[in-house]
Amino acid sequence: MKKKIVAGNWKMNKTFKEAEDLLFGIADALISGRPDDVEVVVCPPALYLELATDVATEHDFSCGAQNLSEHEAGAYTGEISAAMIRSTGAAYVILGHSERRTYYGEHDQLIGKKILQALRHELIPIYCCGEVLEEREAGRHFQVVEKQISDALSGLDADAFSKVVIAYEPVWAIGTGRTASPEQAQEMHAFIRKVLASHFGEHAANDTTILYGGSCNAANARELFANPDVDGGLIGGASLKAEDFVKIVNSF
Ligand code: PEP
Repeated sequence: MKKKIVAGNWKMNKTFKEAEDLLFGIADALISGRPDDVEVVVCPPALYLELATDVATEHDFSCGAQNLSEHEAGAYTGEISAAMIRSTGAAYVILGHSERRTYYGEHDQLIGKKILQALRHELIPIYCCGEVLEEREAGRHFQVVEKQISDALSGLDADAFSKVVIAYEPVWAIGTGRTASPEQAQEMHAFIRKVLASHFGEHAANDTTILYGGSCNAANARELFANPDVDGGLIGGASLKAEDFVKIVNSF
């Protein structure tokens, strides 16, 4: 079901104490005011998920992981399974982030398996897609994003797909301070909806939550979220300060 979401991706940041401070900082800032119709999702390192879900339950926000294993369980040293994540109370998982694609060689087929694994354990996948600068400059961005979506998602049936959230994250905008313009974001989000309609039908496409990510912050969120096909944001750097993050939540 389509809804407004602001999700924070902490990446590999914060010690335990710092994580605790940030979680309570977010909780306090949310108490001071937030829109009723925006779901807030905090995605800390997996190590802190149980702590995060405890705070989240009391303060009406949700939590998610940043990755999971494509395997169910067993001899996969260092990996974290969907069942483990779900058992902490987390509801979401970010999959296909460009940093996983670039540094850990994750490709659409593997990400597709992770999406299935997430769905099997009732976790909502936030599937990240987006082109690199070279691809945009060559005018291939639509083609690239269409392929990422088709390769990772087209095997899902309509019911499974209805649980998926998409995040369009142009790689050239992630952590660079260079945000996509509201027009560029809207254009790509509308295109993504068209691609989704071709796989799952118009109704399902219109019902999908599509987030924007890439240097979204308290100063530019309002303009980005004002677009009809932008249903919220996946926030990296600006999610590490409670006040900034909650300002973004209040940008609708
Ligand atoms: C991200 O990593 O998902 C992200 C959007 O990062 P940033 O907001 O820092 O660009």
